[in-house]
Amino acid sequence: METSAKNIRQQERVFDVEAVRRDFPILQQQVNGHPLVYLDNAATSQKPNAVIDAISDYYRGYNANVHRGIHALAEKATTAIENARQSLANFINSPAPEQVLWTRGTTEAINLVAYSWGRSNLKPGDRVLVPILEHHSSIVPWQMATESTGAEVVPVPVTPSGEIDMVALDALLDERVKMVAVSHISNALGTVNPVADIVVRAHRVGAKVLIDGAQAVAHTPVDVQALNCDFYAFSGHKMFGPTGIGVLWGRRELLEAMPPWQGGGEMIEQVSFAGTSYQGLPYRFEAGTPDIAGAIGLAAAVDYLQHLDRVAVAAHEADVLEYTLAQGAAFDGLTRFGEADHVAGVFSFLLDGIPPSDVGMLLDQQGIAVRTGHHCAQPIMAQYGIPGTVRASFALYNTRAEVDRLFEGLAKARRMLG
Ligand code: PMP
Repeated sequence: METSAKNIRQQERVFDVEAVRRDFPILQQQVNGHPLVYLDNAATSQKPNAVIDAISDYYRGYNANVHRGIHALAEKATTAIENARQSLANFINSPAPEQVLWTRGTTEAINLVAYSWGRSNLKPGDRVLVPILEHHSSIVPWQMATESTGAEVVPVPVTPSGEIDMVALDALLDERVKMVAVSHISNALGTVNPVADIVVRAHRVGAKVLIDGAQAVAHTPVDVQALNCDFYAFSGHKMFGPTGIGVLWGRRELLEAMPPWQGGGEMIEQVSFAGTSYQGLPYRFEAGTPDIAGAIGLAAAVDYLQHLDRVAVAAHEADVLEYTLAQGAAFDGLTRFGEADHVAGVFSFLLDGIPPSDVGMLLDQQGIAVRTGHHCAQPIMAQYGIPGTVRASFALYNTRAEVDRLFEGLAKARRMLG
């Protein structure tokens, strides 16, 4: 009995990448005469049939506006979107579903906090710490919020290997700091930042922490209670869900004290020209018709991820990335950017003397999709003294064979353009 139970567990641990690939119809195509190798997952991931079907089932079967209807379709759609909120809450271990707010994505989630929390909590002399490797979406909203409140954004140094300089962070952390805005995983370099540790340090001086989880949710299980962060933001489209939907998770007492940031339908309790009162959580932050299909699709993506063994998925992803890094290290004329001890999902590099966009175009001719440029992280590119890199970014469906194709493509680029 015991042995067979163990066997079953071991079987579950096996990650069948070919079976997973069959779940993603877009991967089964030829691009420019070659089987597609999709290595642009940090920009957006592909969608499994389960997600595509969930969206299509909604539009085919029960499309209706939510929350105000009494007819059957409206009730079905309302149940579906609130079940989706519960799925997302479970996914990140939120204590309650109403702490999960629908947004358009990470960018909107960060803007919500910067606008609503920022404008009501920041004052002249206050500081917001932002590591230099952050995405523009985690920098610019804080520049806007500090401009309007007289507070200041202070960059946190990053080491040459692409890690947040924790000694410098400690030196900056004092009672002037009200917020630390930090990514869980860097999209430009792949660095996995020590976010739980940063939360402990920031809380010691009374600062809040907003974690930008855009690059994390597809690669690692996230537990907002274990992280003990104050806010956590992510996008559906980077975790196999649709575009146009994302989540802001927040600590209840912070969200409850924050003013609404957009006004309109859904977020009100009662409206009159004498004065308007607002709903409680989560609706006070969800003005207007939400992306119902998006939320349903995102919940399907959560189900999809959760039916896989995430330990086995992480082991597979680590294997593919290590294989990539080893080939990169052995490739003449290749410089890698970001060599942190702990990386996930991203291989960012340059080939000597060849502009990244030329490398990207040559790879595209061979059916290999990568991204080139500054990856919305100009400050860290400036620190390295480069305008941008070539970035290959991975998801659970990528394989060692695809990495071989990437390096064959790079060898061709070096022969033709170098
Ligand atoms: N932060 C990080 C780390 C990202 O990688 C991205 C997307 N590239 C964003 C924020 C913004 O995400 P979105 O465009 O989905 O709002």
